[in-house]
Amino acid sequence: MTTSSTWITPPTAGSERLDGTEAAIVTADRLLTGRRGSTETSLEVLTDPGHRVGVLLDGSRIAAVGALPALQAAAASLPGRTPPRHLDLEGATLMPGLIDTHVHLATSGTDVEYPDYGDLEIQHLTLNAARSARELLSVGVTAVQSLGARHYVDVALRDAIAAGSLRGPQVRAAGPQITTTSGHSWQAGSEVDGLDSIRHAVRYHHKRDVDTVKFMATGGFTTGGSAPWNAQFTTEEMALIVSESHRLGHLCAAHAHGTQGIDRATVAGVDYLAHASFVSTAGRSEFDPGLADRMAEAGIYVDCTVTAELPALVAYDDSFAPPVRLLWEHGVRVVTGHDAGIPAIPHRSYVGGLEALEQMGLPRSEVILAATSRAAAAIGLAGVTGVLAVGYDADLIAVEGDPTQDLAVLRCLKLVATKGREFVADPVPGLARRAERRGQQEGRDSQAAPLWPDEILGAYRDRARRAAAHPQV
Ligand SMILES: [Zn+2]
Repeated sequence: MTTSSTWITPPTAGSERLDGTEAAIVTADRLLTGRRGSTETSLEVLTDPGHRVGVLLDGSRIAAVGALPALQAAAASLPGRTPPRHLDLEGATLMPGLIDTHVHLATSGTDVEYPDYGDLEIQHLTLNAARSARELLSVGVTAVQSLGARHYVDVALRDAIAAGSLRGPQVRAAGPQITTTSGHSWQAGSEVDGLDSIRHAVRYHHKRDVDTVKFMATGGFTTGGSAPWNAQFTTEEMALIVSESHRLGHLCAAHAHGTQGIDRATVAGVDYLAHASFVSTAGRSEFDPGLADRMAEAGIYVDCTVTAELPALVAYDDSFAPPVRLLWEHGVRVVTGHDAGIPAIPHRSYVGGLEALEQMGLPRSEVILAATSRAAAAIGLAGVTGVLAVGYDADLIAVEGDPTQDLAVLRCLKLVATKGREFVADPVPGLARRAERRGQQEGRDSQAAPLWPDEILGAYRDRARRAAAHPQV
């Protein structure tokens, strides 16, 4: 339920240059609209030899985009507006705010996946979500899709941010992931078995006001005992989850590592696939070009969960290399979902995930589209955010330098604004590389240590190897 707040919100540093209610002009050296450019691997970039370029904000919306004289002319025609404030950011690039299409807000990524908070579980998870929201905004992420949160804390967070009670990205919420009894992420609290049980779960999520319904099409690497290479539901069961979600007006997203689960979810008609790692029963990623073609044809959005640390993991064992480049070549709509919030993926590592996506073979222009306009469409916010154009929410960032030359400049934020209001970023600590941590925690015996694909697949392959050597009698 959205409540209107009469509070003066929230405690701030008091130094915001844009308040989200007045008219304002923001200019910089160049502007990325979030659209593709004239060639396949270019972006639409606005520059003007004689002037700065930027946006005119009418409160929370974008009222004009262009060179400064055009913005000033447009400002003069805004009804009832005094001359707008002009914020000029020399040397900077203005662009749409960044989007993470796959986050877990109730956890930090620096702790275990399901911390034990005893009787105060809901309270702690809710506060964690508020903290995650602030951390994401501090690294320039202005919209997210929450693909799993216990007790629907993401729904409450979405409404609190929308009401202005808290600062954070615009949230699209899925509530707890639907899974099978003891299946992947059963701890999230939405276990189903059989068609009636599925109907009830989807309808209950609808009653709790989710935006997206997320289900676990295969096992996962962070739930011991689940099998990532196997599907968890029949095609008929998945089709029911999808049709019931669509009937109630929701998008439907599936977690799928194994090829069998990707295939069934594609047949079932999902809108979004998380991971798509094509893990086969051989215990490694084995790309299926025919299936990729069908995913592309169906228009499914796919996050390959390429995180900041993935290149190091792939260098250690290339059987985890996600086929992100191949998927893109087959025309699949790749988006930037990082699974942030699960162990070892803190929300603040967002830009590292974009750099990793480029390292894994996606052109830089594609990475930027995947993180802005395409991501917005993937989470149901087409026409709302992810593009700097008239009528869109004024969700924008400015960075020092030019991200079309180097994605690293996305860390040099000069401005973050949601719905036209500046957010003064919190300082966020840097991160040790996974390779360094791997050295530090030899043995990984602690309960807090995450389960990694190499452990689960290693055990599986070892069993298969031993069985193959067993006498066939
Ligand atoms: Zn996830």
